[in-house]
Order: sequence, then C-alpha cells, then structure tokens
Amino acid sequence: MMGRRQYPWELRPVPWSEWQEYTRGTQDGVILLSYGIAPRDKLATRRQLRTMGLRPGGQNPVALLYFRYRPAHTQVFAELFLIERAKPVRPMTDAKRRALGKALLARRTCRQCGEIGPVELPRTNRVCEPCRFTLGLLDSWDYLHDYVQGMPTLAPDELCGVA
Ligand SMILES: [Zn+2]
Repeated sequence: MMGRRQYPWELRPVPWSEWQEYTRGTQDGVILLSYGIAPRDKLATRRQLRTMGLRPGGQNPVALLYFRYRPAHTQVFAELFLIERAKPVRPMTDAKRRALGKALLARRTCRQCGEIGPVELPRTNRVCEPCRFTLGLLDSWDYLHDYVQGMPTLAPDELCGVA
C-alpha cells in the first residue's frame, strides 16, 4: 500500500539553504519533505503563494511536501516553490478589464430594444421580458403569462422602455 511507505531522513544540500538540511529523500529527482519540516518563510505551495499575491513565475517546484489526506487515507503531494523566486500576480490590464466589462454588459443588453437591465438575460436569445412577450417568444409555461394577459396596460414600446 502506497500510503504505508516510509521515507527515511536524509541530510542533503537544498536550494533554500546554504547548509545541508534534513529531507525525506527524493522522488523522481525532486526533494521530498514531510509535513512540518518545510520552512514556511522560504517555501510555499502554489495556493500559499497566491494568498501572498505571488505566482511561481516559471520556476520548477524545488520540493514536494507529502502528507496524509485523512478522509481518503491517501498520500498527497504538494509542490513547493521558492518564495524568493516567485513573482507578483499579474494585475488585470485595462484592456482586459474593458473587454470583460463589455462582455458582461452585452449579456444584460436586450437585442430587441437595446435596454440594459440589472441582470443577465437568457443565454438563448438575450431579449428582455417585455420584448419576449411582444415578440411572442414566451413558452407556454412561462410565468409571464400569469400577469400579462387580457388588456395590455402599456403599449409594446412602453413596455420596452423606449419612446
Ligand atoms: Zn427588450
């Protein structure tokens, strides 16, 4: 059983220290560390880097941290990176932000009347409720039938909010 494997202590040179440090050997050439012996001020997982606003920045992991994942009784390996070689997370560029804003706006814009509503319109046609009604796009089960029947109190263009 893989989870039973014991890794022997092994003193070896490591990239995060000028001295030899205790490790749990290597796996496929990468240094193994058991839980608790990884220096937290020098090594971090991808997720830990992220909380510091950092990313690995192209470097390879310098060690693997192994620990037992109790619920599944399996051994889990987490890649560890050098904090000093990490780079700041790229901030979103203005162009990216503009493109995203545009895309989100398009999802709220009625293709029929052009009105911009507060919520995203249905992905299938992106048409607002009043327009769906006037265009006869409502499904027979649509809840709008419950209150838009009989004499319309507003003209279609008034429903759509365009004069
Ligand atoms: Zn509309």
